[in-house]
Order: sequence, then C-alpha cells, then structure tokens
Amino acid sequence: MRAEVYRAGLLYSALPAAPATARGPDRSGRVVTVSPMSQSSPPVPASLTPAMRQYFDAKRQHRDALVFFRMGDFYEMFYEDALTAARALDLTLTSRSKDAAGSAIPMCGVPHHAADAYIARLVKKGYRVAICEQIEDPKKAKGLVQRAVVRVVSPGTLTDAGYLDAREPAFLLALAPWTPATGKPGGTVIGTALIDVSTGEFAVAEYAGDAGRQALAEELRVIAPRELVLAEGVDLASLLPGTDGVAVPVTRVDAWSFGFERARDILLEQLRAGGLEGFGLANRPAAVAAAGALVRYLRDTQKVDLAHVRSVSFREHADVLLVDPTTIAHLEVVEGADGGREGSLLAELDRTQTAMGARLLRGWLLRPLARLEPILDRLDAVEELAFRAADRTRLREALTVVQDIERLVSRAALGTAGPRDLTALRRSLSAIPRVRAVLADCRAPLLASLLGSLDDLPDLRDRLEATLVEEPPAQARDGGCVRDGVDADLDALRDVSRNGKAHIAAMEDAERARTGIASLKVRFNRVFGYYIEVSKSNLHAVPADYQRKQTIAGGERFVTPALKDYEERVLGADERIAEREVAIFEALRAAVAAEAPRVLESARVLATFDVLAGLAHVATTNDYTKPHFHDGEELHVVDGRHPVVERRTRDPFVPNDVLLDAAGSQVVILTGPNMGGKSTYLRQVALTVVMAQAGAFVPARQAKLPIVDRVFARVGASDNIARGQSTFMVEMQETARILHHATSQSLVVLDEIGRGTATFDGLSIAWAVAEHLASSTKARPKTLFATHYHELTDLADALPSVTNAHVAVREWHDDIVFLRKVLPGRSDRSYGIQVARLAGLPPSVVARARAILDALEADELTRGGRPSLHAAPAEPQRQLALFEAAAAPRDHLVARLQEVDVNQLTPLAALQLLADLKRALED
Ligand code: ADP
Ligand code: MG
Repeated sequence: MRAEVYRAGLLYSALPAAPATARGPDRSGRVVTVSPMSQSSPPVPASLTPAMRQYFDAKRQHRDALVFFRMGDFYEMFYEDALTAARALDLTLTSRSKDAAGSAIPMCGVPHHAADAYIARLVKKGYRVAICEQIEDPKKAKGLVQRAVVRVVSPGTLTDAGYLDAREPAFLLALAPWTPATGKPGGTVIGTALIDVSTGEFAVAEYAGDAGRQALAEELRVIAPRELVLAEGVDLASLLPGTDGVAVPVTRVDAWSFGFERARDILLEQLRAGGLEGFGLANRPAAVAAAGALVRYLRDTQKVDLAHVRSVSFREHADVLLVDPTTIAHLEVVEGADGGREGSLLAELDRTQTAMGARLLRGWLLRPLARLEPILDRLDAVEELAFRAADRTRLREALTVVQDIERLVSRAALGTAGPRDLTALRRSLSAIPRVRAVLADCRAPLLASLLGSLDDLPDLRDRLEATLVEEPPAQARDGGCVRDGVDADLDALRDVSRNGKAHIAAMEDAERARTGIASLKVRFNRVFGYYIEVSKSNLHAVPADYQRKQTIAGGERFVTPALKDYEERVLGADERIAEREVAIFEALRAAVAAEAPRVLESARVLATFDVLAGLAHVATTNDYTKPHFHDGEELHVVDGRHPVVERRTRDPFVPNDVLLDAAGSQVVILTGPNMGGKSTYLRQVALTVVMAQAGAFVPARQAKLPIVDRVFARVGASDNIARGQSTFMVEMQETARILHHATSQSLVVLDEIGRGTATFDGLSIAWAVAEHLASSTKARPKTLFATHYHELTDLADALPSVTNAHVAVREWHDDIVFLRKVLPGRSDRSYGIQVARLAGLPPSVVARARAILDALEADELTRGGRPSLHAAPAEPQRQLALFEAAAAPRDHLVARLQEVDVNQLTPLAALQLLADLKRALED
C-alpha cells in the first residue's frame, strides 16, 4: 500500500545510497544493509553488558521506532538504528566494544542538548523515535542506572514548538471501520478521531456508506494529517478508494484497542466523564472506537495523562459547507498558485495577531458553515467590530502580547514546557482583563457569549507571577528561574551558595595578602573544582601548605584544604538548588496542566476574537460588505470583486454582477476572449460564497446569498501536463464527481471544461455536461460555465434555465481593449487574432491570419450562417459533420482551419500551421 511505502520503502529509496560507513558487519561478519523501519528486532547477541540488555528491552518494545538510548550526555543508537540514523542525519558511525562473538556493534550518537533538532529531523522524514532516558540520577544509582522509554515521537505527535508551523494545525487521525450488528451488508460506517496534540483540539465524526467514504477520502486530503493510526490488517486503499496517492505515515496498533468497550472506557476515563451522551456520542460506536484507540495510542507513546484533552466534539457533516480539495486548490483558498501562502485567500484575509487566530481562520476557510444561525452570529460579530473601529484597534493591540497559549498549555500538559514557556503563558494571560474591558459592552450575541466563557484565570496568573522570575533561563535545571521568597528551603540553599561564593572571593583577597602575590587568582574549572593559580614569576612566594595540582604554560595551579572545604559546601548547595528549582518548576507546570481545560477554553475565545477582529479589519480596509442571506434560491452579487486579484492588478479592478437562480439563470454560459477575465470572474463568485459562509464580509457592493451545501470549482486540464497523469482523464473524473454529487443547493463553477481533448470531443462533452446541469431532474446546481466553445451559447435558446454572459472587449482598429465587464448575451467572436497580436505574433503572420479568417467568414456566410449547433442542441454531431464534408481541395484547407482552435495555438504552432497550409495550397 502506498501510504505505508512512504514510511518504509519509498523513504528508503529516497535516501541517498548508503555510504560505506552506514553499513556494518553483523555478528557473523557479513555486511548488513538495513531498511529504516524494519519491524524486526536486532539479533540479540549471546552475552550482553547490563546496559545493552536494557537497550534490547527498550528496543523490543519499540520495534518500529529508532531508540535514542541515553548514556551520559549523549543519546546513542545501536545496530540497525545506528545505521539508519547515521544515514538520515549524516552522523559518523562508530562502534561500541565488541560483543561476545567478537563483532563490533554499530553505534552513533547525538549530544542530549541538541537532541530535539535531530529528533525533529528524523520525524519529518517519517521515522518514529523512542526516547529512552536515564530515569534516576546516575550519581545516586547503585549499580546500573535505571532507564526507560519516556516518550515516543512520531510525525503526528511532534509537539516541539520550534519544529511546527505556528499557523497550521498538526493533526493525527485514527480511522475505525465499523459494521453495525443490525446493519445491512455494506452498511459500514467509518469512525474518525482527529487530534492536534499540540493544541488539544479533539474531534470525531462518522461517515456512512459509499457517499461517506467518498467524503472521507476528500476530507483526508483537506485535513492532511501528519500520521494515520489504523488497526493491524486494515487496508487503507480498499477502505477509502482514491487515497492511494495520499502520502501519510501509517502507524499500526493492535486491533483490540479499537474494540468498542475498551475504547469507550479509556475515552471516558480520559474525558473524566461518566457517560458519552454529553459529547453527543451516545449512538456513535464507530466514532467512539476511533477516539478510544487514539487516546490509547497517545497515552502509550506520550506516557503522560494528556491533561489538555478533556473534551471532544462530534462534527456533523451537514453543518459544514463541503469544499473538496480540488476546489480548495483551484480557488487558492489557503495556498497561492506557487504553493505558498502568498496569493491565497487566507493570506489576504489573515489580519490576526496570534498564531491561534491564524490557525482558526484557516480552519474557518477550509470548513465554512452550512447552517444559517452560526453564520449570522459570526457576521453580526464582524459587523459590530467593523463598526466600532476604536474598540477593534484596542482589542487587536491587546492581543499582540498573546502568544500561542494552546501550544504552551499543551506543552505543559505533555511535560515538555520550560520556564520560558510558562512566562510566555503568563504574559499571554495578562491580556485577558484588557480584552474583557474592551468588549464589555458589545451587543453581538457571539461576542457576548464568548466573553461569558472567557476566564481571567487570576489564580493561575498569580501563581505564575509569584513563582517565576521576569526573564528565566530556558531550562529549569540551568538555575535561577524561581523567585526568591517562593520556597524557604530554596532561599536557605541560595544563601549558602551566595555567601559561599563571597567567601571564595574573600579567600582570594586573604591569600593575596598572605603571600604578597597580587596576581594570585582563585578560579574554578570542572576538572579540579576551585584552585589557586599563581604565575611563573611568583612561584617562589608560594607557601608550603599549597598542594600543586597542575602546571600550565604561564604558571601553576594549587589547592588548599580550606579551599576544598568551602568548595564542597558551595557546590553541594548549587546542586541542591538546581534540584529544588526543578521540583518547584515541575509542580508549577503540573498546576498549569491541571488547569489546561480552563486555559484552553479561554485561549479559544481569544483566538475567535482575534479572527473576528481580523475579519472586521479587512472588511473595513478592503471595503467589503456584509452578505445578506435569505431562504430563497437567488444568488445575486452586485459589483463583486476578486479578493486577491483586486489587490494585485495594476489597472483598477472592474467590479461585476452575478445573478444565479433556480429558474431563468440557473446555468450561465460565459464566453469571451482569452485574458478577458472569465476565470477571475468564476473564482470570485465561488470565493464570495466561501467567504460569506465562513462568516466574513465579501468584496462586493451588495450580496444576496442562499445557503450553499457544496462548492465545486474545476478547470480544464490542458495546462496541468506537468502532473504527469492523463490530465484529460483527471478532468473527466472530476467532472463526473460533480455530476454525481452536486445538489440543487450546490454552486458549480466550470472553467473551460473539455479543453483537454480534441476540439470536437471537447465541445461535445462540454455541451452534454452543461445540458445535464441545466436540465437534470435530480439536481440542478447553480452553475457558471466559462468556455471558448461559442457553440455552447446556443443552449440558452433551447433551455429556459440557461442564460448567456460574456466579458466585454472594445475593438479599436486592429487592437482590442479588455473591458473586463461581464455583460448579458453571447460574445460575438473570439478575438483570437487580436489576442495573438497582443501576444507578439509577427505582424506578417497576424495579417495573413486575418486574411484567412476573413475568407473563412465569407465562406461561412455563403453556407448560411456561422457554424452553429443551434438546430440540434442534443445532437451536436449532426451539425459537426458539416465541418468534415471535404469536397474541393480548398474546402479541405477550410476544414483544417476550422478545426484550429486559435485560442490554443502557440505562436510557433501558428507559424507551422501557416506553412503547412501554404504548402497544401501549392500542391
Ligand atoms: P480568462 O480566463 O478570460 O482568460 P483571466 O480571468 O485569467 O481571463 O484574466 C486575465 C487577467 O485579467 C487577470 O490576470 C487579471 O490581471 C485581469 N483581470 C481579470 N478580471 C479583471 C477585472 N474584473 N478587473 C481588472 N482586471 C481583471
Ligand atoms: Mg481562463
């Protein structure tokens, strides 16, 4: 299966060929080459050192992971893991003392202080890393230091802030196929559980039947999880058709953890709840199975209680506007044309102040709403904030100090937060009273209710304030993160330490006085501890009680019994101070973790305020308007604009209207020359719907909208050749999907469908598709259809639900000016020659083309009109036969020219064509 290949084979083959060092002899002396994530344990050598026995214990429990085995200041890897890591991280492979059979054990290591970066690199390559720590102080250990795996880091559980994109979620997804006991055959339900461990966001859903699978397959591409958790034996490709191209690391867990009762029990325990009803999960066994298995997996790998995961929400599909991944890509909702954020709708609308807000807005745009009430709630809130400019400014200012509370708290719950994370949390929480004050008298129901669930958390803030210094070090063990006065023991130890150091300074003075050596220094290093350094020229003055320790270039180093005595007291104190500070810090961190649900609730309120204020801000600066929703069918936008293109064109953007309704203009056929503005117009209409249902104001003077259930946007495939697939095939598959899934409440936007094949085929298909959308008795979605097949405009005459529109151009001599105005009626011609001229086709060629065109048009007139399908809307082929009738040689030329699609012709191809035509004429 593809998805797994990513983890094993593909990943392996993507790595550079194994360098010589990344191979090592195995016990029998043969050379072993290793596949990175092979599930087998290394061969257990006959006799082992005690440490290596610990290693094998850890490895046996984590066969699918690279084991980082802590030894002193390093994490070491052995055997296959060492070979793999050496290759993946470019580390030097060494070997550990020979085992009993006389073979060296391949080994490589990374320093513990830099381990996070190495772990992140491995995980981003799709590996899992099991961190095996020394779980007791080596100095205190009697005999062998105890070690245990304290955490397993995988692509879906990497929570280190430094390695995550702050503006994107990091989802881990579990899927649970579920066959109801009483259900019909094939009535399988798939339960999903989705969690972002870095923020505590936890949601479940269920997908039933074939339509459900289809939806889930699409959902999978939108969610883009970092890791998928599946039971052993579940085949993703057969479970979800169409996902074999999805590259996501798959983790296998025991099938029993998906069993309902086990899953329910662990879920209830995690949520600290007595029943499932409160979460809307009473009759959702598939969702519960997925959620329980996911919780178990996380507990097994993170080895902590996950105090930040105390609630779960069930997501109802009917509540969201479904925007499939192809449409999201085509509309450039979250990514611009070049794959980055630049040029996307998200980039234009994101005026949030916090990373939490940025993530939330992204979620709103990817999953707009499909129920009126929550949409209106958001819109009313945006309206009030747009109107109250001064308050909005104060709100946004207050939010500037808010850091990523969700991720900070989650790190506290996972036990990975350091002192600076908690001071960042403290600073962030300090914004809450200001936010509350600014919004105190707001009236929009959403703002008021959010304010109601905003907790000032004074207890937690006070404790953080009282405990931590202003600027703590990165790690608690570095010392100095806890304020004086917090803890009596700590204060006493610090006293000893500080006075002890002062004593050392005094001792230096005293020794100088005693020996008369003014340059005498009392110094410290890790090898000798405290020592007295005397330069060469003063050695004659050294007293007898000095014990020589070391000779250095400039002099000698000595110790005295008195010095050693103080050293012991000072150093002992420092060590105990560090221990004490770590303990106090960890208690504080645990207190934060215990309050995680309250903190997260407030964090989400702040994030929502941030998004709403940001949307209000763009609405005012970009001159957007509040959309008006109604129960009817009509979609009517006056002076609509494209939110991104309007910020980027050099010429002023030309606003355009659109009117789609169930009857007279259910399908609008849009024609006009290349570069006329067709694609822009189509996308702006679809984006307007997405924005409005996400709760944003829209770029228009007026917008009257129905609630839409799905938005589909497709573009003809001829320019996607780089993707390598048969693009026409893809185009047709996507078109098929629309015809199957669109309802009368959907919006469909088709841009040059049929372009990916020969002209007549393409025209016939486009015709049939438009006709189907306009006359199906099952579903008649509101449709905008841009096409360069002018013949399609004839549909408007035959079908009452179809209407024509065109993008206007003005002709001036032989030039055209694009007016970018969409007007009713068909475009009278394609202006291909003018566009070719604009594109820089040589004047002689343009002139010749014009002459040919004139001749063709004259010829057409004698045949009684322009090539038309008018008479037979349902049977284009009959009229098309007209073009094929080739009698005289000149007719043959005419026919060839008529087949040419000038819009599609490159300048080079045009020249070639002309040359061919001329040759044919001379023959
Ligand atoms: P078509 O699909 O008809 O070939 P496009 O929609 O790709 O045309 O538009 C071509 C270019 O015209 C766009 O890149 C944009 O710069 C400009 N454009 C499109 N619509 C407008 C408009 N309404 N106002 C101003 N410029 C526009
Ligand atoms: Mg176009």
